[in-house]
Amino acid sequence: MHNYEGVYITGKWRAGSGERIEVHSPADSSVLGHVTEATSDDVDAAVQSARDAGASGPWARASKSDRSAAIGRLADEIQARSSAFADVVSAEVGSPRKWSSFGQIGVAIGVLRSYQKITDEFAFDDTRPSATGGEVLVQRLPVGVVGAILPWNAPVFTAALKLAPALAAGCTVVLKPSPEAPLGVSMLTEAIEASGLPDGVINIVSGGVATGEALVANSGVDKISFTGSTAAGKQIGAACAADVRRCVLELGGKSAAIVLDDVVLDAETVGGLVTGVMANNGQICVAQTRILVPRNRYEEVIDALASAVRQMKIGDPADRATQIGPVVNRAARDRIESAVARAKSDGARIVTGGARPDGFDAGWFVTPTIVADVENNAEIAREELFGPVAVVIAYSHEDDAVALANDSKYGLAAAVWSTDRSRAARVAARLRVGSVSVNSPGPIDFGSPFGGFKQSGIGREGGPEGISAFVEPRSIIL
Ligand code: NAD
Repeated sequence: MHNYEGVYITGKWRAGSGERIEVHSPADSSVLGHVTEATSDDVDAAVQSARDAGASGPWARASKSDRSAAIGRLADEIQARSSAFADVVSAEVGSPRKWSSFGQIGVAIGVLRSYQKITDEFAFDDTRPSATGGEVLVQRLPVGVVGAILPWNAPVFTAALKLAPALAAGCTVVLKPSPEAPLGVSMLTEAIEASGLPDGVINIVSGGVATGEALVANSGVDKISFTGSTAAGKQIGAACAADVRRCVLELGGKSAAIVLDDVVLDAETVGGLVTGVMANNGQICVAQTRILVPRNRYEEVIDALASAVRQMKIGDPADRATQIGPVVNRAARDRIESAVARAKSDGARIVTGGARPDGFDAGWFVTPTIVADVENNAEIAREELFGPVAVVIAYSHEDDAVALANDSKYGLAAAVWSTDRSRAARVAARLRVGSVSVNSPGPIDFGSPFGGFKQSGIGREGGPEGISAFVEPRSIIL
């Protein structure tokens, strides 16, 4: 059992006044532990703690090399507990345990290590010639208190994507994990304390929408950094706009994998296309759920994908042989099943999957599914499903593939697959998305900006650009 009572404020777990939130395994509905829902009074106390830690004391005086070292120590302490973190996150999210070592925790450590270096190299101050003679000192000051609101699908990774640049900039943070997956984030307190970060620099308030709304409404928060659905992001963006509060919004997607006509369907390519959709049981924001295939190779690609997907081992996320675990909860399972059923009744072909797997009645399992013969404007090709479902769409020529990939309200990510890397890179450069991978299913690089065009978000995380989101520039004209 992983039980975290109360709220984590000024370096201690303190009694909270809210209700208990039980966290259930999506694999068998057993109770994994509990946290306490933070009330708006708890959120106020956490924000005050963050304000105090940012205004005076060791963090307010920390140099950029102190901050870089602190980020490195936090990475070390997570690394020292990486197996325990992967166990907890795998259990609460349902991520296959083997994948979680890298896909949930390794990437969090990678982000922190990358920012340890970037912080050292980032120009927080520079002097430049004034346009009218003389000199200007440009300073990049911490934006202040960051309210960081996290999704359940990658809780520790998304926490690291916010913590690392915020700490680099000298900010303090109130983290709000989601009620589905608060245990890994609560466990971060062990690493935070062992790393010697001053009290109050990172505070944690668990809870659902009401706790998130209290954080967004608190005028002591200078910047909201939100990762989650586009629907919630629109509400949060509107709330922030009302008093000109800064916000970064990292939202949903319906990304495309473009298979060019020269592709060789070897195990690596087929495996990459499948991983691009099915990783984390289809619950990653950059999932390439629209696979765009040249019309003259349509059936060949569908057959290769279906054969690989049928071999995936569905099972208990804790079992290292498992490749597909459950989706997060009953509502997600029901939403995915009904979207596939609607697509079928609208004439789509369910090549594989589409029914519940046998023998997994205690949890929220969905058989990995391939849907063919759909148009790009079908509901299943337009809306983010957040489950192990790929649609395969035929295109006629390269321009058509680019147009289809771009024909989406989202613009988070994409992948291009080809034997000709230069050609793939040219196609990648025509896509209106925040990041594209060539011949790989992973369009995220720790040292480079990551975020969305269009309704996939505003702002970027990752790389030096990620730090820019947490600083306010000030020009002193000398
Ligand atoms: P969600 O929007 O339901 O919730 C995200 C977080 O916001 C939770 O902590 C929730 O409690 C809180 N929240 C919800 N409504 C709120 C409101 N009005 N005010 C304040 N807080 C609020 O999303 P989810 O189901 O947890 O996560 C899945 C979504 O996240 C998918 O759409 C996925 O694509 C997206 N996502 C995006 C990225 C990215 O980097 N772009 C990464 C991971 C997940």
